[in-house]
Amino acid sequence: MTDEVNPFESLQEQIDDAAAFLDAESGVLERLKHPERVLETNLTVEMDDGSIEVFKAYRSQFNGDRGPYKGGIRYHPAVDRAEVKALSGWMVYKCAAVGIPYGGGKGGIRINPREYSAAELERVTRSFAKELRPIIGADRDIPAPDVNTGQREMNWIKDTYETLENTTEPGVITGKAIESGGSAGRVEATGRSVMLVAREAFDHLGKDIEDATVAVQGYGNAGSVAAKLTEDLGANIVAVSDSSGAIYNPDGLDAREAKDFKIDTGTVSGFEGATEELTNEDLLTMDVDLLIPAALENAIDGDLAADVSADVIVEAANGPLTPDADDVLVERDVAVFPDILANAGGVTVSYFEWVQNRQRFSWTEQRVNDELERVITEAFDELVKAFENNDVPNYRTAMYVVAIRRVLQSAEEAGIWP
Ligand code: GLU
Repeated sequence: MTDEVNPFESLQEQIDDAAAFLDAESGVLERLKHPERVLETNLTVEMDDGSIEVFKAYRSQFNGDRGPYKGGIRYHPAVDRAEVKALSGWMVYKCAAVGIPYGGGKGGIRINPREYSAAELERVTRSFAKELRPIIGADRDIPAPDVNTGQREMNWIKDTYETLENTTEPGVITGKAIESGGSAGRVEATGRSVMLVAREAFDHLGKDIEDATVAVQGYGNAGSVAAKLTEDLGANIVAVSDSSGAIYNPDGLDAREAKDFKIDTGTVSGFEGATEELTNEDLLTMDVDLLIPAALENAIDGDLAADVSADVIVEAANGPLTPDADDVLVERDVAVFPDILANAGGVTVSYFEWVQNRQRFSWTEQRVNDELERVITEAFDELVKAFENNDVPNYRTAMYVVAIRRVLQSAEEAGIWP
């Protein structure tokens, strides 16, 4: 992982790469490269021992042309303004890529949640929700889970918002627990779209996903569900990793057992189904049919890309490849299927959750999964069309061409105010 690459600059480079294939006026394009606004706040929170701590927190609202701002909130010590801006921009193009009626936003708190009690995290979360209250809303900006946040945090944010607004408005946030207005299938949705994109990608490339060897970097929600569902297609998960290291078994690891082991012990290292322990770098450069980076941005830079031996990469994380890595992988003929499509299952089922909240009517898990499959496979077909009809270097640029065109069209239809 490289710290030198600024993710916001990566986003802007990705937009520029696609813009070369679009007929957009430079001023209009410039607007699509910057957030509309960024909230930066300092949360002042009492700890269990009575001391006071201050946490930096952000919410970036990147673009609202296609609908309310939409995107997760992450808790991580590396959260900063540039990261949140980039992640909010990726949300704009992700929602446009899969054609759901949202703009993009993202938030984060600079905190290592493992160092705090549940009561402290609740106070931190409610403090952030209080700061967010004036700028969020079911028709304004709809947060969701991201790295190190989940149903628990979403339930707290919903409760804080509803208490302060003296109303019930479950659609103000998605990724809630079912009894708090969540949707069936939301927890698995990101991993499910990664699996669907891997399946479609192998089919499109004329490769067999059955018996394909797979390495997964990052074994949180996205990575572990992607591994499990890809294994269900008959693929062979040979290596998985988390921040403590990687494990390997050439005959395949049981994806579900590896996850259970991680839940019990906090890490995949030491899992009895593995024959070897490796480093994360070993995993990323392993000779496999499919590599799924499912951790954080900048996992593979240009130098590491020169050693990548996978045939296909499907991005479960947001921004795991730097623009330099993309260039190297084009040269080396590695097919990369981009984050803004592959991990869009999360926000797509967030959209279904929001629709259900607004209708006060819940769908079955089967309906959620069927609708998700339709959205992702249709978006995949659009991607292939754009790849074949434009002289683009890779699938990422093709997907951005589709997504930016949609954002540009809604911006043009709206005109400029005032
Ligand atoms: N955090 C997820 C993402 O990066 C989900 C966002 C959402 O559901 O709004 O796509």
